[in-house]
Amino acid sequence: MKTRVLTITDPEEDIKKIQEAADLIRAGEAVAFPTETVYGLGANALEAEAVRKIFEAKGRPGDNPLIVHIYDVNQWKDLVEDIPKQALLLAEAFWPGPLSIILKKSSLIPEEVTAGLDTVGVRMPAHPAALKLLALAGVPVAAPSANRSGKPSPTTAGHVLEDLNGRIPMILDGGSSCVGVESTVLDCTGEVPLILRPGGVTPEMLREKAGQVRIHSSVRRPLFEDEKAISPGMKYVHYAPNAPVVLIRGSVYSFADYVNRKALELEREGKKAGILATEQSLRKCRYGIRLSLGDGNNPSEIAGNLFACLREFDSLGVDLILAEAVEEKGIGLAVMNRIVKAAGFHVIDLES
Ligand code: AMP
Ligand code: MG
Repeated sequence: MKTRVLTITDPEEDIKKIQEAADLIRAGEAVAFPTETVYGLGANALEAEAVRKIFEAKGRPGDNPLIVHIYDVNQWKDLVEDIPKQALLLAEAFWPGPLSIILKKSSLIPEEVTAGLDTVGVRMPAHPAALKLLALAGVPVAAPSANRSGKPSPTTAGHVLEDLNGRIPMILDGGSSCVGVESTVLDCTGEVPLILRPGGVTPEMLREKAGQVRIHSSVRRPLFEDEKAISPGMKYVHYAPNAPVVLIRGSVYSFADYVNRKALELEREGKKAGILATEQSLRKCRYGIRLSLGDGNNPSEIAGNLFACLREFDSLGVDLILAEAVEEKGIGLAVMNRIVKAAGFHVIDLES
């Protein structure tokens, strides 16, 4: 299959191209499109056969459910059994935006979408091209990130092409995704909302609107062997570049000292170390291939750069990636969750 890439500069001016993508979705195909978080691979959420194409193209395990994307809150009512007051309040506050709300699903949603769960995650993306596509498609669109399963999520159309060229008919190229990490997955089926995956809408922002909000313990640590994955995505390898990743916690000085020694050691063995750190810390690092996450005082910039850096290490062919820990505040919690998963929870704590 040939993958066409259509550039969208302005959703109004490029409406014909978006219509082509919408027509493909209406015809039961899966197409990649930009959202503010990462690029998505979308198909008609009401058609099991269309949804299967997403799993096939990505090589995604069948028990990892998809998030359904809508452009109008009215679409939500048909997809879920009931919308509790609090969920509606959160949607009103954060949609369109990077918040996926999990509620009990209605019978309209095929089990392929939810991987057999009785709940469904729904969100309204805040990207003008995505909203236009959803409106023209006229159906709810199931869309996970548009990467091969296990790889870092794509934040540009080029990343999607790297992973899915020849596997999908079309990619809409709307430039770089501005948030850079995926949506917050919030389970609203219980009394107190529970964050299953941290993302663009931070715990602090949610608490300001909803009061109490809990964070699932697996956000920071691996699942125990006998522990049930309430969000099936929790149990899979994620965001992983080709080289192993090690997360390093410490001060700027202890981090630089450690990576300088380690990178030099690898260099002597004829291997390449990749160093992933903030601009400030990188100034103190002298060896290895150094990629900047951005300004250490700007967590949004760091979130925006993270996945592109992990992919760049793949093309640079490094043997080991040493990543600096960032503060788990605000969107920093989502950044750390992605790095810790990319590292398979391999963490070195220099201060302990
Ligand atoms: P992706 O679309 O690739 O960003 O992945 C979607 C994430 O949302 C996965 O980690 C899923 O496990 C999670 N998710 C989607 N639907 C549900 C659901 N109904 N219950 C719990 N987690 C979900
Ligand atoms: Mg994903």
